[in-house]
Amino acid sequence: MTQQKNLFYSDPDLTEIRSSIIGVRQHAFGTAVALDQNIVRAAGDGEPRDVGEIGEMPIRSVEKQDGMTWIAFEDRQDRYSVGDVVNLRVDAGHRDSRRRLHTGVHLAIRCACNHFGDIRITEAEIAEDAISARVVGKVDRPVDKADVGFVDRAMRSAVLKAYPVTSINAKSVEHAERKFGPLFRVSDRHAFKGKVRLVCMDNLDVNPCGGLHHPDTNIGAYEMKADLTDAASGVFDIKINLAQCWMYWCGD
Ligand SMILES: [Zn+2]
Repeated sequence: MTQQKNLFYSDPDLTEIRSSIIGVRQHAFGTAVALDQNIVRAAGDGEPRDVGEIGEMPIRSVEKQDGMTWIAFEDRQDRYSVGDVVNLRVDAGHRDSRRRLHTGVHLAIRCACNHFGDIRITEAEIAEDAISARVVGKVDRPVDKADVGFVDRAMRSAVLKAYPVTSINAKSVEHAERKFGPLFRVSDRHAFKGKVRLVCMDNLDVNPCGGLHHPDTNIGAYEMKADLTDAASGVFDIKINLAQCWMYWCGD
């Protein structure tokens, strides 16, 4: 079977392509195909999957199997076979919002780490509709509204400074730790073995991540909303909502 090329890392702005089918399978939704040049990313690293169309059909699921990404859609007629060329389109708005939010999540966690000294992240998820993201962490003291204000202010300052966001590969987590020192953070939710992809925010944050990011920290206007229900027991629970314009101003 021909090897599949995933283009979303090297060219995350590419949202339309014509591509050849290199694998066809029956699927609960109808049919799943693997394409030689793939631009559709499966869910992972706190990101929902890409949405879009294959041929004229909406993509119903995206799964990784046997080292390839399989795109499932409704096709009861078994119209497709290996060698056919199909149009593949990713919803560019959804992709863009997800990239902004993913960078926002890294920023929020970094700013929370800096503010609290230490925080154990228990959740960092971008919503399916890519309009908001939620970050939940645990610190060893009560959290209050002022803490959220500090984190928001630090994050906003980094957003306005538009630090470049890049990715590099490192030999291992240990190697990255030595190289980046305090800039490096790794969540204890994940175990890494061998090579890791690092997402680097200039002089601010380095974190192993396989997600798609905005090219710089200027993710645009957002609002940070906190849920303080369990704040007294040290739960830092925030939502980042992408907004059309800044809804409030924290200053620097
Ligand atoms: Zn990430």
